[in-house]
Amino acid sequence: MNNLTYRAYQVSAPKQEAELVTLTESDLPEGDLTVRVRHSSLNYKDGLAMTGKPGVVRTFPLTCGIDLAGTVVDAGGGFANGDEVVLTGANLSETRPGGYSGYQRIEAESVLKAPVRLGTWGAMAVGTAGLTAMLCILRLRGAGIDPGSGPVLVTGATGGVGSFAVGALSRLGYEVHASTGKDTEEPYLKNLGATEVIPRESLAAETPALGKQRWIGCIDSVGGATLANVLSQIKYSGAVASCGLAGGLKLPTTVMPFILRNVSLLGVDSVNASPELRREAWAELDDLFAVDDLRAVAIDAGWEQLPKLSHKILTGSIRGRVVVDIT
Ligand code: NDP
Repeated sequence: MNNLTYRAYQVSAPKQEAELVTLTESDLPEGDLTVRVRHSSLNYKDGLAMTGKPGVVRTFPLTCGIDLAGTVVDAGGGFANGDEVVLTGANLSETRPGGYSGYQRIEAESVLKAPVRLGTWGAMAVGTAGLTAMLCILRLRGAGIDPGSGPVLVTGATGGVGSFAVGALSRLGYEVHASTGKDTEEPYLKNLGATEVIPRESLAAETPALGKQRWIGCIDSVGGATLANVLSQIKYSGAVASCGLAGGLKLPTTVMPFILRNVSLLGVDSVNASPELRREAWAELDDLFAVDDLRAVAIDAGWEQLPKLSHKILTGSIRGRVVVDIT
């Protein structure tokens, strides 16, 4: 590890875009094991961090990238050199340097062995987005929403979380309805397993406190008026897993769905999910998806494409997932 130099995308101060810098071993943080990063991914939060938007990076300078997967090169914390590992969330790119970096030193606590079938590429095709989709499914299941219960809606369906929610729900046997703002993506969503595709605008209009009962469950990565609209159309004793705010952080709703229809609103956070919960979610994802399946939802990108793609993801115009090749 002597004379180690590597590239990283780093944000040096608030409101500044990330820059590609060259770092050395002394720039690695404290931690249990050092990883040669092979792949990372692009999430909505990465778009915010890379473009200097507030709310993600909380200490400066900081390396971006909320996900990483790679090979252990300086072992510790129960791992061996050569192990392939994956780390998502865990405050990467918030208070700890993240995955857009040739090497990273990390705490063993939240690190998992890379899923066997998926490997490091597949793990990053899934990444925080796929993990979050699966955490949402586990929450819905915990609320009694099973495959035979009725249709489940996915909002922001062509996004990272949405694509995995549609694909995983469908593979688990749920009837999936997908809401999207991209009117050309019906074939993509049907190919992932959606049986009905709903235009985003139909969920954006102002809604009465209670509407027609349409879905038993929903995985919502949009928030705002869309979530309010969905809540008013959830069937009796249904549940909504809320994980995102791509459409807004305010929730202009009433208590009516909760008190008259027994509806539950379930919060989902992937950043601080316990290692046990992550393991359970990754095991299901590894069972459900093979690398070949993921080629339909993920594209590859190199270092030089990251700044442009970071702006693009914030406009909601990226379909599925972006795997970043860290070489
Ligand atoms: P993406 O950008 O990949 O997907 C978001 C999707 O939402 C878009 O593709 C689009 O889908 C839809 N969308 C975008 N803008 C709007 C809008 N103004 N109104 C309605 N729909 C819109 O992001 P991710 O999937 O990575 O993340 C989605 C959300 O989930 C983000 O808010 C992110 O911060 C959050 N998140 C939360 C996590 C947690 O732990 N709670 C973890 C991961 C993500 P379409 O065109 O199909 O409608």
